[in-house]
Amino acid sequence: MTTAPPAPAALRERAARLDADDPLASLRERFLLPPGVVYLDGNSLGPLPAAVPPALSDVVTRQWGTDLIGSWNTNGWWQAPLRVGDAIGGLIGAAPGQTVAGDSTSVQLFTALDAAAALRPDRPLLVTDPGHFPTDRYLADAVARRRDLEVRRVPPAALADLLAAEGHRVAVVSYSPVDFRTGELYDMRALTRAAHAAGALALWDLCHAAGALPLDVDTLGVDLAVGCGYKFLSGGPGAPAFLYVARRHHAELETPLPGWTGHADPFGMGGDYTPAPGIARARIGTPPVLSLLALEAALTAFDGVDLAQVRAKSLSLTGFFLRCAQELLIPEGFSTVTPTDPDRRGSQVTLRHPHAHGLTVALARRGVIADMRAPDLVRFGVNALYTTHQDLLEAALSLRDITHEAAYDPTPPAVGPVT
Ligand SMILES: *Cc1c(COP(=O)(O)O)cnc(C)c1O
Repeated sequence: MTTAPPAPAALRERAARLDADDPLASLRERFLLPPGVVYLDGNSLGPLPAAVPPALSDVVTRQWGTDLIGSWNTNGWWQAPLRVGDAIGGLIGAAPGQTVAGDSTSVQLFTALDAAAALRPDRPLLVTDPGHFPTDRYLADAVARRRDLEVRRVPPAALADLLAAEGHRVAVVSYSPVDFRTGELYDMRALTRAAHAAGALALWDLCHAAGALPLDVDTLGVDLAVGCGYKFLSGGPGAPAFLYVARRHHAELETPLPGWTGHADPFGMGGDYTPAPGIARARIGTPPVLSLLALEAALTAFDGVDLAQVRAKSLSLTGFFLRCAQELLIPEGFSTVTPTDPDRRGSQVTLRHPHAHGLTVALARRGVIADMRAPDLVRFGVNALYTTHQDLLEAALSLRDITHEAAYDPTPPAVGPVT
């Protein structure tokens, strides 16, 4: 063990200059970040937006406490799933009336996969990514079992080959634009086009993309999309997720959970289910109003924000962190997993190290919150609304020091991830 060398002055100067020139710097005030913490886990749980505590307090004490059940009308509770859906729609390139918020990502995903299969009834294949988030894979399998379909697990790079061989049999291609482990960004436009050229539908899971980069679901002709409320949208733990269905599919859209709030006349309490017109038919049951209204307040952190600028800053942040990794961490035994090509990089940097778990725990003790994915990946999520280049230099320096001094527990965890 030797003493770690000092921080290279060039990196310090560069971080300070990039932060000084950052047109989005003032947005950090829209978040209540605890002092002394470098938070690089907003791709798993976004931090608390300053607008949320007063909004939630009003929802609880005035709306619920005083206005009681009348709030469904007077405080807009009934319309909240569609209103919040439209607010998210504005961040993903969806015109109003195509996005609904309310249930978890997993529930929305099941709805989307099943509804997509129903829209292509003569096609027996569901295509998903073998590296997709677990819930996406499990739910594709579940829909396939229930509908007697087959799942083909094909990484995005091999989609063209699969479609050339069996494209006429594919009902839906279900991918994420950003790999949650590696941070690799896929070409949504090309993959959507490829699916469409085969007559299949394109379903995108935007959990790691919504709020992190400009998206254009309408322009790309995406058929269905889902995404989380609690990652880059910072809607809070367990925040409602969203479901987007392109308007051209609404009339035919059949959802697997036809709950009463998606009925054309929900308060008629009538005999049989008649779906509401439009995206409202994707509503299921009574929405989680406290969470929805917390998410609605959280989304105001994006007011007036240009997502092209968010993307530019995110690339500057991840590019800077990759440079820090090159200079400070590669010599300590890390390797870079995230593509260095900016066109292939989402809003996170993933490094590989055999002691990922112990290092992540030791980093958190020094106030740098990242996370790990078993067995050997350390993930650093950046969010252009509040992350600074200096945050990333601090993180890289802490990680270098911990590694250099072997100041971490090298034994792997007994079970489960760190966060
Ligand atoms: C985070 C994430 C989920 C989470 O699903 P929940 O139902 O909210 O737990 C699903 N899919 C992807 C791609 C994710 O990144």
